[in-house]
Amino acid sequence: MDTVDKKTRSRIMASVGQHDTGPEMRLRRVLHKLGLRYRLNDRRLPGSPDLVFPRFHAAVFVHGCFWHAHEGCKFATKPSTRKGFWNEKFEANKRRDRRNYDTLFEEGWRVLVVWECSIKCLKDKELDDLGAEVAKWLADKERFAEIGTLVKVIRSSLPISRIEPTRHREE
Ligand SMILES: [Zn+2]
Repeated sequence: MDTVDKKTRSRIMASVGQHDTGPEMRLRRVLHKLGLRYRLNDRRLPGSPDLVFPRFHAAVFVHGCFWHAHEGCKFATKPSTRKGFWNEKFEANKRRDRRNYDTLFEEGWRVLVVWECSIKCLKDKELDDLGAEVAKWLADKERFAEIGTLVKVIRSSLPISRIEPTRHREE
């Protein structure tokens, strides 16, 4: 028997669909083609990372540029009405993301953020380059990286407050 109303159900279906279509699916396909295997949406980990690679101790988030307020990105548009409301929402999302990364680091995970803009602008054959970038990062020891619009791993300053870069680097 159905326990949710029609509206709720269609909202749930829509959010489920997001994981299986569009940018995330394109990334998954190219990584799979490269022989990389992953777990999906692991709810046991902070923020339920979209892809988890246990072998590499790596969690990958595919972030929508709008909701996660991708800095300097043309897809991270700011609604022109109810500015205060939206700013608050974006800030809260960013804080939550950072908290999740922090907790993952503490638990020994590495974190890669792949912004949707770096996937959705690509032609199918260009996706291979993106896949190669991700594969390279996975094999690396780097703790945190973001892939932005330019299909390039940006070794940015870490967005996190407390980092102990040497802790997980020994081997
Ligand atoms: Zn973006």
